[in-house]
Amino acid sequence: MIDIKGPVRVRFAPSPTGFLHIGGVRTALFNWLFARHYGGQFLLRIEDTDEKRFVVGAADDLMTSMRWVGMNWDEGPDIGGPCGPYVQSVRHEQGIYKPHIEQLLAAGHAYMSFTTEDELTQMRADAEARGVKAFRFRGPERDWPLAKQRELAATGKQHTIRLKTPTEGSTFFTDLVRGGDGIRINNADLYDIVLIKSTGMPVYHMAHLVDDHMMNITHVLRSDEWVPSTPYHCIMYDYFGWQRPTFAHLPPILRQDGHGKLSKRKDDVSANRFWERGYLADAMFNYLTLQGWSFDDHTEIMTRAEVVERFTIDRVLSSPARWNPAKLLDMNGIYIRAMANDDVAAAITPFLQKAELVTDPVTPAEQTKIRLLVPLVHERLKELGEAPELLDFFFKDIENPPMDLLIPKKMEASETKDALVAMHAALTAIPDWTGNEAALEAALRDICTAMDKKPGQLFGAIRVAVSARNVAPPLFEMLVALGREVSLSRIARAISLFA
Ligand code: GLU
Repeated sequence: MIDIKGPVRVRFAPSPTGFLHIGGVRTALFNWLFARHYGGQFLLRIEDTDEKRFVVGAADDLMTSMRWVGMNWDEGPDIGGPCGPYVQSVRHEQGIYKPHIEQLLAAGHAYMSFTTEDELTQMRADAEARGVKAFRFRGPERDWPLAKQRELAATGKQHTIRLKTPTEGSTFFTDLVRGGDGIRINNADLYDIVLIKSTGMPVYHMAHLVDDHMMNITHVLRSDEWVPSTPYHCIMYDYFGWQRPTFAHLPPILRQDGHGKLSKRKDDVSANRFWERGYLADAMFNYLTLQGWSFDDHTEIMTRAEVVERFTIDRVLSSPARWNPAKLLDMNGIYIRAMANDDVAAAITPFLQKAELVTDPVTPAEQTKIRLLVPLVHERLKELGEAPELLDFFFKDIENPPMDLLIPKKMEASETKDALVAMHAALTAIPDWTGNEAALEAALRDICTAMDKKPGQLFGAIRVAVSARNVAPPLFEMLVALGREVSLSRIARAISLFA
């Protein structure tokens, strides 16, 4: 059992480079759960110092996605807080990073590097040609006095500022997720990373570290892609004389086929895609908690409160999670089935409106109809967004049903027509259909017997006649919901299709 002592402050620090990826939501969620379980604070900070990758609107979009899943933050760009501002470009404009970089320069822990990108590319190529496996750049200026660096900079020569990493010894850090053994890196294997770009903009390594320190972050729960950068961060904490936070690198989420990590570019995994298709926030929350965490080896369906209560860091798995859309879909179905009829009706209404099957706002008659239809699809609905496709024929007229669907297996066209005529007559003879599914069924079964056909055959023909499809809700409930008049007229139309 890992003991988490003292007040806990964690953050989610996304870069607004596009729609929030589901892996990002998982990282945010684990931070949120950590804060809520251990009674601490959860901060949201926007890391937008990479101008090249910045996407307008992405920060708002990611906040919407986070709120949708049910996360709230105690401090953040929209609500402020004692350690604001919470947007790095704004912090940069306010000069927040400057004294810190000056501190490193003055102490000789960082230096101005005048090597250009082209020179670097050339050096890399030369090293490769010499058979050097890993090119570890350390600029000659690392040994220059600061005054000499400043002098050259004053001539207007472009430069970056790099961290002067130690060349000897090793750097050691522990990680809450990877057991207590810790990771040790030989400093000789490091290189002098850029901290400040030639534009003057701090890169992630510099900005996040200053911010984590100034925002009193106690635990850094982040994607495992940052493990290789962690030694640099540890060195920087030590250079500044600041206490390091405790690191916990979350396991990666692998692609569905297990080959490689889930990718923003290759996989269709932006968070808003899921709510657009009618995933429930509760289902998404529940599913994502299981992407890299487990309570035990069998409990899967858990409420938010249960997860918060159970979310201890030692149950975060070190082995990779595997993205499983089928499982997410099943889980969504479970959550939909647990909903009350009227709640499902309310939840599918926007989808029916988008498909222009009902008006916006819905009329009372439409609302009643939607509520009446829900029981027909409730069991089968796994994405709310499927509702229009499942239900459209209740709201609008159908196309002529295709003959190959209409004619049941092992039946001729002429027999099908005779059967439809007989069934039409039998159904017409029942004046009131409401609540009378059993009478409709009995009437059609009699015809099956009389014609020596299987119910599957004749019921199938009726299903296709009224819905123009062979997969549809239970037949008799469907006929009653469609109503006597509409059903009979559609069956008559199907009959008329036979020459
Ligand atoms: N901005 C970084 C990212 O989006 C944050 C990493 C971290 O949590 O430290 O990956």
